[in-house]
Amino acid sequence: MISLQSHQNMNPQISDYIIPSEKVAHVQIGNNLEHALLVLTKSGYSAIPVLDARFKLHGLISSPLITESILGLERIEFEKLSDKKVEDVMQIQIPKIRVDEEFEKALDLLIDYPFLCVEDREGFFEGIFTRRILLKELKNYLGKLDHV
Ligand code: AMP
Repeated sequence: MISLQSHQNMNPQISDYIIPSEKVAHVQIGNNLEHALLVLTKSGYSAIPVLDARFKLHGLISSPLITESILGLERIEFEKLSDKKVEDVMQIQIPKIRVDEEFEKALDLLIDYPFLCVEDREGFFEGIFTRRILLKELKNYLGKLDHV
């Protein structure tokens, strides 16, 4: 990863800060909710991207969305987990950015969201940009400024 300080003109690029798609836990369109819950639980992440077989980004799935979708009047209807598909319950309006967009836009979005999905011009998933990465880089940068 390239540090903020290494950008002489302070013109950082989103591509320098992303966790690449191959390292991002995700589910695919067509997967059932049981599988999604398994991936979410095993990975420990609160929300993960939903992609298709060609790695196009379709939405985000999270444990609260899954639980809400199987909530009956008096109990959680776990037996429905295997019948429902991720595309039935995923969030479609998601915080996302194109890899070639202004870095400032990513900063604005990361104030409100813990991570952004990053896609290319055709909507193919490139990875995620997390608030954690941004804060780590900022800490490194400020630490170096202290020693100037
Ligand atoms: P973090 O800043 O690392 O705590 O991540 C914040 C959120 O970004 C997590 O709760 C996940 O929703 C998402 N996230 C971070 N890293 C990954 C990953 N490798 N795969 C999938 N989702 C991730």
